[in-house]
Amino acid sequence: MNTLRMVSLQSGSNGNSYFVESGNIRLLIDAGITASRTVERLTSLGIDIASIQGILISHAHSDHISGAGVLHRRYKIPVWLTPGAYQQAGDSRNLAKKLGKLQEPHLFHAGESLQFDGVTIETISTPHDALDSVCFVFDDGVVRLGIITDLGCRFLGLGEIVETLDAILLESNYDEKMLETSTYPEELKQRIRSNIGHLSNIESAGLIQKHGKKLRWVCLGHLSENNNTPEKTLDTHRKIIGNHLDIFIASRYQCTELPVLYH
Ligand SMILES: [Zn+2]
Ligand SMILES: [Zn+2]
Repeated sequence: MNTLRMVSLQSGSNGNSYFVESGNIRLLIDAGITASRTVERLTSLGIDIASIQGILISHAHSDHISGAGVLHRRYKIPVWLTPGAYQQAGDSRNLAKKLGKLQEPHLFHAGESLQFDGVTIETISTPHDALDSVCFVFDDGVVRLGIITDLGCRFLGLGEIVETLDAILLESNYDEKMLETSTYPEELKQRIRSNIGHLSNIESAGLIQKHGKKLRWVCLGHLSENNNTPEKTLDTHRKIIGNHLDIFIASRYQCTELPVLYH
């Protein structure tokens, strides 16, 4: 029996990292928590860091890369990222310059598919305020899982991608009313709401409601600490989607295990 398994090690503006396993393949998507915390959380799942074959980076914001360089150097884990993300991570003006030196980074272009022993990983360009940012779809030949975060908007073609998915980790960053009344400076509010910022609960729920017909489950992630709560996220999605779908919320503070996709 084949399986595709995902565990969120942490998800939110305070750091993002996801573990994905299919057959012999074990990968991390983003490494935005410290290396020691990554190891600690994998160990709690019974997973040896030495068995991780790669780290795939979605973009060079620090909440996605802050632990990647240390994991790469300490445990010899290869890193895959786009040329733009590599450039941004190495830019001395970039405050998120935390990757440090990489031995032979594996560069890919947005839109290319990566092959890992029977698993295809599609890379999809995203509208976001980072250079050359992407999101990922895992396809093991039967089951398709999307890890789709840090989108400013529901870009053209996203709905059609969601329609092909069996499961999705989707950004649901902020509650519109909480953001409106928050103490954030107006400029920051505008950045979050913009077409290159993040998806709100309503935007995320609308996407699932319209295009998520094939989904076995949805996990909502990348929640804002100040402008969202798990309760509001779930409530908004239930109101828009209804009760027929399993909805999980990825924790900002601990591992969130999702149902294994069997086939
Ligand atoms: Zn980002
Ligand atoms: Zn982010």
